[in-house]
This record gives sequence, C-alpha cells and structure tokens, in this order.
Amino acid sequence: MLPLIRILIENIFKPPITEEISAANLPEHPGGFHGYPEHDPSRCIACGICQYFCPAKVIKISQIDDKMNYHMDLDQCTCCGQCIDYCPTNAIKHRPNPYFVATNLDDFKVDHQIKLIKCAKCGAFIPDMTLIAHKLFGEGKPVPKHLTMCPKCKRKP
Ligand code: SF4
Ligand code: SF4
Repeated sequence: MLPLIRILIENIFKPPITEEISAANLPEHPGGFHGYPEHDPSRCIACGICQYFCPAKVIKISQIDDKMNYHMDLDQCTCCGQCIDYCPTNAIKHRPNPYFVATNLDDFKVDHQIKLIKCAKCGAFIPDMTLIAHKLFGEGKPVPKHLTMCPKCKRKP
C-alpha cells in the first residue's frame, strides 16, 4: 500500500507530460498516409454515388428546390476513401495532411449547394451531366441529348 501512496504523491507534483496540440504545432507525419476527404462543389454533380458507398453514413445529399445540399459530418469519417474512389468526376480528394484538429464540432461539418438543371423534356430538376459527358466524349464536345433528360423522359419512346 505504501509504495502506491508514494507514487500517487509523486504524480501530484509532476508537471504535465502531454503536450497541447493545435493546428500550428502538429508533429510531422510519415508519408503515405491520407487525410480527410475534401469536397469540391465545382466538380460535384450531386449524383449520390459517394453517399451510397460511404460505410459510415457521413454524406447526406438532399434536394432543396433547384439545388442539392451536399452535407458531410466529417467527425464520423473513417478516412476510408470509398467516396474518393467511386466519385465519377473527381470531386473529392484526400487532404494531404491526415490531421484534422478543431475545437468546434461545427468545423467538421461541410455544406455545399450543387445547382441542378432542368430536364430538356419535362423540366424536372436533374444533375448537370456536362462533366461526365466531357469525360466520356471529350472536352468541349456537346452533351448528348439523353444526358440532358430525367430518367422518366429517357424511358419514353
Ligand atoms: S460521387 Fe462525386 S459527383 Fe457524385 S455526389 Fe459524390 S462528390 Fe458529387
Ligand atoms: S472517407 Fe470513407 S467514411 Fe469518410 S466520407 Fe468518404 S466514404 Fe465516408
């Protein structure tokens, strides 16, 4: 019992051994690690593929009028990279630094608005497929008509 009491008393008078970490004094990290996903709304077409594949349900996409709200709860992200691997337009990348330090939970929330376009036939809001068309058929080529229509109109003869 006595040695335990001695250790307890010694520890009371010892200085703290942990160091305060802030974004400014982060230690060097070894190469090869990847960081949290970073979403680029200018490349996002709000297709929902990343939401479908995210195992931690970090990504939530919902329509508000003529826009899609793209939401991420990065405090629940495991940095698995599934969203990055499956995104067809390279709208998500790993941040180069694996650390993500914040004292406010709101700093882990991402909210981006993605503009939708109107279906060429019925006017329903649909994702803008221009980036996909350029990837498939070449930069600057016109977007094929079937990519400017909603799924319902595509099925109509
Ligand atoms: S997969 Fe890419 S393009 Fe599709 S919603 Fe996610 S970030 Fe946007
Ligand atoms: S890195 Fe993984 S856990 Fe994080 S948002 Fe992407 S798919 Fe979800």
